[in-house]
Amino acid sequence: MRKIIRGLIVGMFVLAFSTMCFASALTDYQAAQVQVANLTTQVQQAALLAQNDPAQAQNYQVLQAQLAQAQQTMQALEAAAVQELQQQQAIQAAQQQQVQQAAALQAQQTAAIQAKQQVQQNTPAQAAASSASYIGNKNTKKFHYAGCSSVADMNPGNKVALSSREEAISAGYVPCKRCNP
Ligand SMILES: [Zn+2]
Repeated sequence: MRKIIRGLIVGMFVLAFSTMCFASALTDYQAAQVQVANLTTQVQQAALLAQNDPAQAQNYQVLQAQLAQAQQTMQALEAAAVQELQQQQAIQAAQQQQVQQAAALQAQQTAAIQAKQQVQQNTPAQAAASSASYIGNKNTKKFHYAGCSSVADMNPGNKVALSSREEAISAGYVPCKRCNP
């Protein structure tokens, strides 16, 4: 029984030492907390044994001393662990802020892309409107602004789209007297 307990304690010290070497202050502190909890249980068990068997009294004292030492170790680690926890929280807050900034930036970019697309959509429409702003009449050989009321009355079969005034005149069309293109 005593050998097993001693083995356990040695094992835990090795574990605690290795975590101290390779892990952060926070995990060291957590490991120390576990060690204190384990030793507390062992001390309680040893106390019960020592009541019935005076030979167990020494084991109880050894365990008590080890518990006191483990508690000291835990307390010594506490400040560093708290500091590390605060650092981790600060890092998380900074990361969260970065994520929010990235999202805001992406929203701006999306808005900019949408605005650009809007401009691109408008430009060809405007260009098409200006390029098809003249309508010729095959029958009368007159040409009009697309908005002229004569165009609305025109037989669709007689309509000829003309991109410019020059094109209309060179094709033999004469300007309408009503809209005067
Ligand atoms: Zn006209």
